[in-house]
Amino acid sequence: MDVAEQFADRKIALVTGANKGIGRGAAEQLAALGMTVLIGARDTGRGAAAAAAVRAAGGDAHAVELDVTRASTVQQAAEWIEQRFGRLDVLINNASITGSGQVSPEDAVDQVPSTVKLDMVREVFETNVFGVIAVTNAMLPLLRRSAGARIVNVSSHAASLTLIGDPDGPFAGLLPSAAYSPSKTALSALTVQYANELRKDGILVNAVAPGYVDTDSNNHTGFLTVAQGAAVLVRLATVGDDGPTGGFFSEDGPLPW
Ligand code: NAP
Repeated sequence: MDVAEQFADRKIALVTGANKGIGRGAAEQLAALGMTVLIGARDTGRGAAAAAAVRAAGGDAHAVELDVTRASTVQQAAEWIEQRFGRLDVLINNASITGSGQVSPEDAVDQVPSTVKLDMVREVFETNVFGVIAVTNAMLPLLRRSAGARIVNVSSHAASLTLIGDPDGPFAGLLPSAAYSPSKTALSALTVQYANELRKDGILVNAVAPGYVDTDSNNHTGFLTVAQGAAVLVRLATVGDDGPTGGFFSEDGPLPW
């Protein structure tokens, strides 16, 4: 039996940055739905530990080394997935950095546009934007072998020019940012461009905002659980063939760009 036959009845999902936080939550939920989940992690030890935990809960999970900023690991991950599983059904581009370390958005003074360090902006875009292009393009040949592939780009309410541009809106209190927020706005643009290219191939591409979630990225100041934050990732990863593409969603519904 070749690999294509072996995994014909199971969906294969890759989640980047899945060793902890919202990505790990999404991996756990996809595994609970019966998918084989590939835990992308830049640290192989942390990835292996997360995969073992998902397996201990009854799921099928495997760790794969994947640093989205290192082309060699991206290519090797794609080759390993091809050899081991033959295709990919779901890609969740979740890996991300804030650039400010573990602080809440209100404390990210080092991202204020007039004083930001350009190196920090470059580093954030390298992971949050260029990393997404690198991983998506490496995985696309495998996604094209799926009967109904889904790509989910994990963004943020802070990506929305409509929301953060409203001086009287709920995000008016956020410090202006030249790094994290613009990187996620660029991810919105990429989401629409990939959706437009891949619509004819039946590959649905959407961006999601998990909400303010209790994780390391904000030093655990978020008020949603990881499971609550991951729900919208899973929802867009599992939409039917008549589902949306080129959209931006929170768990409460569509968000403005
Ligand atoms: P997190 O707990 O800090 O997890 C981030 C994950 O990304 C970790 O697994 C981290 O790996 C990984 N990562 C970072 N750089 C990487 C790289 N170069 N290659 C591969 N993996 C890398 O953050 P989170 O809060 O769960 O965030 C997950 C997603 O949700 C992100 O896209 C974030 O922007 C988005 N989001 C979160 C919130 C929130 O309130 N938490 C709000 C809006 C959007 P290491 O463990 O090795 O560092």
